Amino acid sequence: QYFGDNLGQKVKAMPLVEETSLLEDSSVTLPVVIIGNGPSGICLSYMLSGYRPYLSSETIHPNTILHSKLEEARHLSIVDQDLEYLSEGLEGRSSNPVAVLFDTLLHPDADFGYDYPSILHWKLEQHHYIPHLVLGKGPPGGAWHNMEGSMLTISFGNWMELPGLKFKDWISSKRRNLKGDRVMPEEIARYYKHYVKVMGLQKNFRENTYITSVSRLYRDQDENDSQDSDISTKHLQTEKSKFIKRNWEIRGYQRIADGSHVPFCLFAENVALATGTLDSPAHLKIEGEDFPFVFHSMPEFGAAISKGKLHGKVDPVLIVGSGLTAADAVLCAYNNNIPVIHVFRRRVTDPSLIFKQLPKKLYPEYHKVYHMMCTKIYSADSNLLSDYTSFPEHHVLSFKSDMKCILQSISGLKKIFKLSAAVVLIGSHPNLSFLKEQGCYLGHNSSQPITCKGNPVEIDAYTYECVKEANLFALGPLVGDNFVRFLKGGALGVTRCLATRQKKKQHLIVERGGEDGVA
Ligand SMILES: Cc1cc2nc3c(=O)[nH]c(=O)nc-3n(C[C@H](O)[C@H](O)[C@H](O)COP(=O)(O)OP(=O)(O)OC[C@H]3O[C@@H](n4cnc5c(N)ncnc54)[C@H](O)[C@@H]3O)c2cc1C
Repeated sequence: QYFGDNLGQKVKAMPLVEETSLLEDSSVTLPVVIIGNGPSGICLSYMLSGYRPYLSSETIHPNTILHSKLEEARHLSIVDQDLEYLSEGLEGRSSNPVAVLFDTLLHPDADFGYDYPSILHWKLEQHHYIPHLVLGKGPPGGAWHNMEGSMLTISFGNWMELPGLKFKDWISSKRRNLKGDRVMPEEIARYYKHYVKVMGLQKNFRENTYITSVSRLYRDQDENDSQDSDISTKHLQTEKSKFIKRNWEIRGYQRIADGSHVPFCLFAENVALATGTLDSPAHLKIEGEDFPFVFHSMPEFGAAISKGKLHGKVDPVLIVGSGLTAADAVLCAYNNNIPVIHVFRRRVTDPSLIFKQLPKKLYPEYHKVYHMMCTKIYSADSNLLSDYTSFPEHHVLSFKSDMKCILQSISGLKKIFKLSAAVVLIGSHPNLSFLKEQGCYLGHNSSQPITCKGNPVEIDAYTYECVKEANLFALGPLVGDNFVRFLKGGALGVTRCLATRQKKKQHLIVERGGEDGVA
């Protein structure tokens, strides 16, 4: 059974949205299905649930131009305002203007080192509720549930908080020692789980769900194509347009308690992609990379260490990569007394190395790694390996079945080392295999896979709707916003777009005398 355009309260009684176990009723069409239950999906669910941000009466934004713009319409929530007008002239570390705007409102002048409170206060306005489901492989919190426990976050705790629940307030109720502003990833993961519960979003979340296909069933163009068709077809089309369109068919399965997989099929008018970029670790694409001693993620490496698999080994672990995850692996091995060979392609003086962008005082452990990368460089003269040896401007040529690897320097010199394990940490890609063409067609360069930095999904800057696919939205790292601070702007853009469209539909219904309704 379809439900009509006048969504709101009627839909709240739908079993699909109320029940928490299976995705049982596949015959309804949902207004929105969100794929991915990390901070992007959670924040979007919060706003679709009717939470609205207003200019707080107690605070003044340090940007006087922005503040006076906000004053002009203080009776309106930010969702109901012109985001293009508000974001004009703002600058920040995201190329998406709404991301910069929302971050500026939530964390005024954060990049200048200030910790000003948000100038927004949130109200729950239930009449704005847009029915939706949030689907994700694990518990709410997404990637944060898969990060290795030993490290601290790069960001301050409050930069990872979601609207309406201060991270500091939550954490202070959990632990007494609040030394330092950086926190453990598992604390963030627990905060997100708690957030979903206290904000009353749980009814919209389905854990342990794996999306295997998202395909388009219906296009507006089909309607236009049928302009000359006979009256009965036209009548059918009119009937169809009265109801929520089954634009999207979403297929997948849910893993249930006994470990079995229950397939499901859902229909949605709109789909929001919030799948992050951590599902497919990048590979070197070299010979022997599939040997079981070669890992491609920190959790795999962490598990090998905690199971004692590398305990007491004299052969070193090879760590490939010069980013922060590789640095985490170096620290993890180092702290477990496992000797390390650290291989990376860049020069140690390369200005784009991430370590150069992190203040020493705030990130001492990463600077310790960087210091070793610069000072403990392999020397062909001594030919000896210490507890840590750095190989800048080198790459791995191949892995061999006898646990050896061949390294090659930029000048072409080759070296062979026996290893106890190898960890390749050179980034990760989104996995959009559930979309046609693996989602490549959505990118700025449609012949290449989607990547956070080089080839994000091309979206309308203010609605986050995919330029190449109507009714499909994308947010978070998929559109270049890899930090939690900025992905929240996606939730604002999508919510504004959907709320505006819903309002337009309701006006149409009123104009037509309200004849449209639930079938
Ligand atoms: C080691 C590390 C440290 C980081 N530190 C910081 C930091 O300090 N500060 C910061 O702001 N950011 C940090 N980040 C980045 C942060 O993880 C992302 O900004 C954030 O998690 C992105 O949120 P998201 O909701 O868009 O995606 P994610 O958190 O990646 O969540 C997406 C979810 O969707 C699920 N999913 C994907 N495909 C499917 C499918 N087919 N079916 C069902 N579910 C699916 C995924 O499994 C995942 O659980 C760090 C990342 C890493 C790896």
